[in-house]
Amino acid sequence: MPAHNRNPKLIVDLSKLRSNIEKVRIMCQDAGIEMAGVIKGFRGLPQGAKQFEQAGCKFIASSRLDQLEPLREFGIQTPLMMIRVPMLTEAYDVVRIADISLNSDVQVLKELNKQAGAQDKKHKVILMADLGDLREGFWDKADMVEAAVMVENELHNLELAGVGTNLGCYGSIAPTRDKMEELISIAERIEERIGRELEYISGGATSGLTTLMDGEMPSRINLLRIGEGVILARDLQDIWGYDMSYLHKDVFTLRAEVIEVRDKPTHPVGKIMIDCFGRRPIYEDRGIRKRALLGIGRVDYGTPEDLMPINKKIKVVGASSDHTIIDVEDAEDIHVGDVVDFRLCYANLVYVTGSRNVSVVFI
Ligand SMILES: *Cc1c(COP(=O)(O)O)cnc(C)c1O
Repeated sequence: MPAHNRNPKLIVDLSKLRSNIEKVRIMCQDAGIEMAGVIKGFRGLPQGAKQFEQAGCKFIASSRLDQLEPLREFGIQTPLMMIRVPMLTEAYDVVRIADISLNSDVQVLKELNKQAGAQDKKHKVILMADLGDLREGFWDKADMVEAAVMVENELHNLELAGVGTNLGCYGSIAPTRDKMEELISIAERIEERIGRELEYISGGATSGLTTLMDGEMPSRINLLRIGEGVILARDLQDIWGYDMSYLHKDVFTLRAEVIEVRDKPTHPVGKIMIDCFGRRPIYEDRGIRKRALLGIGRVDYGTPEDLMPINKKIKVVGASSDHTIIDVEDAEDIHVGDVVDFRLCYANLVYVTGSRNVSVVFI
């Protein structure tokens, strides 16, 4: 069989992805908000990144330089944004690859300035405020204002583009109007000191769309960094309870191939020890059932419990590194060589797009 027929495959519907991005971008635009399209959810697949460009995003953003680096060669011209605060040892490459980065450390800012000088570039920076989510960002807001003033007055190879915050990642904090106003007040303290208006006040990620949809987003917030909300488009509906039925939930399909079908007991037979991951799982005895084995495993997608078989009659039973066991007792006849399709959660998608074992097919 030709190599391109090999399974497993990740099937990516680019027109559905594009449609999701366009709809959310227009919703943002109507509120005076620019959108940075975040591509880390699918490990920066350039064909996916291209959809963000064609849908009119202001920036294409990732937390990883290796995902941003190939995009220029792929023909993408949209400015690139590095959204994980840079390591000192990355400063050279951040300036070389990205046009703008999110930052929270004075030493890193000085290094970026030095590297920008050496590369004869002006690198834009957004300073991050930690408003309680406790991941990146200045905690002491007076320190943050001083850092901004330093960038403005002393780091001449950097351009202070604005301020931002990230919420709902570690501390699960919601992007409420209060938090947005707190960010704006920091921006205004900085503006007063530097005597000009900041270009961007970036209020957050996909979860920021909830504030927007509630009509609670203050008008000075003018940039959101959106990934999940257009890539999988599940969280706002499933977790936050918003009606997002106008977005496609089927941009990505994981297709795995059946390598064995047999009736077997559901409870292991013999003395139970620990599984291949050092765990001691509980096995429910449901008698003899028809089970199929798939040629894909945890190494490819992470946790089997998160996989969502499209055929609701199929249940994922468990997995090891390279095998997945599914219960097909209630499903139609299934044979070796058949394929089984899955929808993915965010973590599954990140792993799948990083697996060399899974080929990516664009439709
Ligand atoms: C991942 C990330 C985003 C995008 O988050 P989504 O929930 O996928 O929209 C935005 N900003 C930062 C700093 C991030 O790390």
